[in-house]
Amino acid sequence: MKYFIGNWKMFGVPKSINILKKINSFQLNDKNKKKYRIVITPPLTLIEKFAAYSKTKKIFIGSQNCYHKDPFSSNTSAVSAHMIKSVGAKYTLIGHSDNRAEGDNDYILKKKVQFALKNKLKIIFCIGENKIEKKNKKTLTILKKQLTNVLEKKFNKNDIIIAYEPIWSIGTGKLPTATELRKITIQIKKILKNIYKKNTFPVLYGGSVDGNSVKIFKEIEEIDGFLIGGASKSSKKFIDIIKNYYR
Ligand code: PEP
Repeated sequence: MKYFIGNWKMFGVPKSINILKKINSFQLNDKNKKKYRIVITPPLTLIEKFAAYSKTKKIFIGSQNCYHKDPFSSNTSAVSAHMIKSVGAKYTLIGHSDNRAEGDNDYILKKKVQFALKNKLKIIFCIGENKIEKKNKKTLTILKKQLTNVLEKKFNKNDIIIAYEPIWSIGTGKLPTATELRKITIQIKKILKNIYKKNTFPVLYGGSVDGNSVKIFKEIEEIDGFLIGGASKSSKKFIDIIKNYYR
C-alpha cells in the first residue's frame, strides 16, 4: 500500500474541513482507492473536528507532533500523545525538521516515539540531511544516526513509517534526482533491516512533492508514498498528486 500524507503545518480553520470533503469525494470515486491510504495532519486545533468527520471515511487524521511527557504535565502549551489520541488521531509525525530545528534531539524524539506507541498512535518518523551535510557527502551517516539513535528493535515495526525529507528540499522546489532518491531509499531500508533483522517499514519521500514532481518519483517502486507539505493545503493540488501518481 502507498501513503499520501498531507502535513498542513500552521494552516487551517474549522471551515477548512471543505478541503477534506473534496479529497473524500475524489477518493470515493477513484478506481485506485484500494491501493493507497490518505492521512492528513492538521494543526492541533482541528484534530477533533477532522477526526470526527473522518471516522466513517477512508481518510485518517494525525498530529504534527506530540510532547515528550505523558499523559499530563505542567508544561505550558504542551500536548501529549495521550491527549492527541483521545480526540481521535490515529497517527503522529515525529522528528519533522521544523521541530528538530526548535530543539527536538534524539533523546526527546525517543521519548516521543515511546509515548506515541504506548498510546497506540502510528508514527511517521521524519529524517533528513541538510544542505551542508549533503554537500559534504554525509547524507547516509546522518540518516543512519537519526534512525539508530531513536528506533529500537522492541518497537513494533507495524506502527512506524519513515519519511525521508531532505531539509534542502522542503518548501524549496529543489528535488533529488530519481537515481539519488532510489539509492537513498534502498539504503534506508537496509539500515532498518539491520535494526529489525527482517523486512521493515514503509519509507516515504517528502520535499517539494507536487503534481509534477510526483511523476519523476512514481517510477521508484521502493518508495512507499509521500509526505506532502505545501501542496496538501489545496484539495486540487493534493488530488493531482494522487491522480498523476497512478496515471
Ligand atoms: C514538509 O514540510 O514536510 C514538506 C515536505 O513540505 P513541502 O512539501 O512544502 O516541501
